[in-house]
Amino acid sequence: MNLIDTTAATAAGAGAAVEAHRPDTTRTPVRRSLAGLDRAGLAEALAAIGVPERERRMRVAQLWHWIYLRGVASFDAMTNVGKGLREKLAGAFTLDRPEVVVEQVSNDGTRKWLLRLPPDIAGDKPHDVEMVYIPESDRGTLCVSSQVGCTLNCSFCHTGTQRLVRNLSAAEIVAQVMVARDRLGDYPGMERAVGPGLPTEGDRLVTNIVFMGMGEPLYAYDSVAKAIEVLADGEGLGIGKRRITVSTSGVVPEIEKLGREVGPMLAISLHAVRDDLRDVLVPINKKYPLRELLDACRNYPAASNAKRITFEYVMLKGVNDSPADAKALVKLLAGIPAKINLIPFNPWPGTKYECSDWETIEQFSDIVFRAGYSSPVRTPRGRDILAACGQLKSETEKLSARERLALRAMAASAE
Ligand code: SAH
Ligand code: SF4
Repeated sequence: MNLIDTTAATAAGAGAAVEAHRPDTTRTPVRRSLAGLDRAGLAEALAAIGVPERERRMRVAQLWHWIYLRGVASFDAMTNVGKGLREKLAGAFTLDRPEVVVEQVSNDGTRKWLLRLPPDIAGDKPHDVEMVYIPESDRGTLCVSSQVGCTLNCSFCHTGTQRLVRNLSAAEIVAQVMVARDRLGDYPGMERAVGPGLPTEGDRLVTNIVFMGMGEPLYAYDSVAKAIEVLADGEGLGIGKRRITVSTSGVVPEIEKLGREVGPMLAISLHAVRDDLRDVLVPINKKYPLRELLDACRNYPAASNAKRITFEYVMLKGVNDSPADAKALVKLLAGIPAKINLIPFNPWPGTKYECSDWETIEQFSDIVFRAGYSSPVRTPRGRDILAACGQLKSETEKLSARERLALRAMAASAE
């Protein structure tokens, strides 16, 4: 299925909606956006327009409130900031978010966005990253990207086949969450999105963040660490560190650092219980083998029964899915406060792997369950919109210029 098919299916009432926005070619990125900056970044911006030092702390607090707690997209809305300063801010900066290039809504409420990041450094070009929103009755989890592409080449992962272009900045990571809140109306006083599958409990739609989109978050450590501090700030976006999970393929030295300096929840992309197989599936294993990885998990400061580490295990037919593998998995994790997440493999064009049969997954899951781990299989979500890593971006890239135009025209006429 490609995006054109999805759009056609929408017109036929199949439930998935696709919407694309024309890039605003009239906008030149001379004014920098403040959306996503931390307190130090906002203070610098204020200094740059001549706000005296003694006033800056108070002004930062005001900006923080309006940008992150209220979600405003214009300086005009900041009613407790004097008109003169508002005008100065608007003359020098914007509150622009990354542009939403494609939005897809699945029948089950899952949403997927392709975002275009403006160039952040001279000579750079705009890059696209994707994020996925997975609603459940009591929570809404946003899966964000930390890099454009990934250097790690895990053999079953489509992102690994894309050339790494760059790390995202902390502001670009935070801005992803802001886009999701904008699109869902998830700020106090805003009109909330309605539709099947959205959370019905609690008053927020985006409650949890997982770094499971494109990229290896621990290779973009500084950005990820800084972004988590902004996301978790109780006076702003307010997504506490226990509701933020960083997923890593196993960059051992950075795991320890993350635990010590930041302390979010941790997920490990394990996928194999033997070094020889993990060397092939997750090649960073050659540098940091299983023993070192599990030691880092044992020492992860935040880990406890209440804050268990998630071990992700993708089910690959005939590769890592035997009952012996399941038993070895349970044995390997003994003594670590752990959750196990069995992920049905999501195939992509050109992959040599297949997803395990359902009975095999059930058998594997039973062994894991009997060892004391509850409901370990992750239900595939948003299958009708290909809501898996790397896939929306590659589907869009495959379209010819003519098809892209047709897609935009269709989306524009649907608006
Ligand atoms: N780079 C980080 C985070 C992004 S990948 C990491 O590897 O942990 C998020 C999760 O999706 C990882 O567990 C990854 O192994 C898994 N994944 C990647 N491609 C997949 C696919 N095609 N099907 C199922 N899971 C996949
Ligand atoms: Fe990179 Fe994670 Fe994909 Fe491996 S699984 S290639 S680390 S994004």
